[in-house]
Amino acid sequence: MFTKHPQTMQFADIIGQEAVKSYLLKNARQDSVSHAQLFLGAEGSGNLALALAYAQYLNCTNKQPADSCGRCNSCQMSLKLAHPDIHFSYPTVTVGSKGKKSTDYMAEWRQAVLQNPYMNVFEWLQFIKAENKQGNITAEECDEIVRKLNLTSFQGAYKILIIWMPEYLGKEGNKLLKVIEEPPAGTLFLLVAENADALLATILSRTQLLRIPPLNPPDIAVNLHNRFQLPHQAARQIAAQCNGNYNAALRLMSNANVNNRQLLTGWLNACLQNNVPQFAQFTEEIAETGREIQKNFIGYCLHFFHECLRLSMLPNYEALLEKDEIQTANRFLQSLNYNSLEELVQAFEKADEHIARNANPKIVFFNLSIRLADTGQGKISFT
Ligand SMILES: [Zn+2]
Repeated sequence: MFTKHPQTMQFADIIGQEAVKSYLLKNARQDSVSHAQLFLGAEGSGNLALALAYAQYLNCTNKQPADSCGRCNSCQMSLKLAHPDIHFSYPTVTVGSKGKKSTDYMAEWRQAVLQNPYMNVFEWLQFIKAENKQGNITAEECDEIVRKLNLTSFQGAYKILIIWMPEYLGKEGNKLLKVIEEPPAGTLFLLVAENADALLATILSRTQLLRIPPLNPPDIAVNLHNRFQLPHQAARQIAAQCNGNYNAALRLMSNANVNNRQLLTGWLNACLQNNVPQFAQFTEEIAETGREIQKNFIGYCLHFFHECLRLSMLPNYEALLEKDEIQTANRFLQSLNYNSLEELVQAFEKADEHIARNANPKIVFFNLSIRLADTGQGKISFT
């Protein structure tokens, strides 16, 4: 999701990740900067934001102890993603002659990253109107990288190439091996990836790995409160259901959350009363939405069930749920025991994986409906 709040990307602007920040600052201060580093972190961890802040810091001409100055010439250009020595490669789609090189989409890249450096590749490809086309870092782009890195740096500082989602490098990525192995002096590769298994082994073995963990929910909650003036309770609630993924938190911020609530109540109602036509209709309707919406809904359901589990087990537990959700949860819990709830959570976790792997949503949601109907045995009414 893209917001209307442009973000700057100095270390101070990045959510949480204090250990990663101090590690990067320390190795910059000690001048022990490895020339090929892999910033490996799941969606929404801030891996791209960290790489940007690090690149800006390295080239800042007035470094402060814990951050770049944000004001020098170099910082001014870095902040606009327009530093002549900081280059970017990312997946693109080819339309006619456009899209063979990353620079073909430079204006879109700046706009998208400045709006949301936590975006995922799906959102980026939608942003450049890729529609059903598969994103790719092309052979032409690899040749361009080699050419660019062999130019002298403009400012005499580090020449940095940030490759975002190198998972999208096919075999043509092997064109980069030599330059990664023996880069021109003062050249740095920062690879920003989510999934090490999808990287070319030849590239992976040539990089120094920096693992970036998912964010801590309290860090996300504080950010949502400060940035969007979201009430504390609502901010904690969203932070609790996004698995340390800030991008997911942004998605949940939208109205989707309210819709999810109504959707789940209606669905539970149909299933727990064993109303087959009604839950079949629900299945049809949700199957027609997109994969992101389905994943978002399942994420919400999992949050709801986890909260139900806690409510059933912990006396005086203060649930991360709104009033109407607590009412639904209490009625739902009347017919359930701990075991069936545990099993439901597992079924939903599996469904989440299946949807991510492009399984047929009709089948996935129909199976879930049957599971829900089984747990209720037609006993509960929500109306
Ligand atoms: Zn500076």
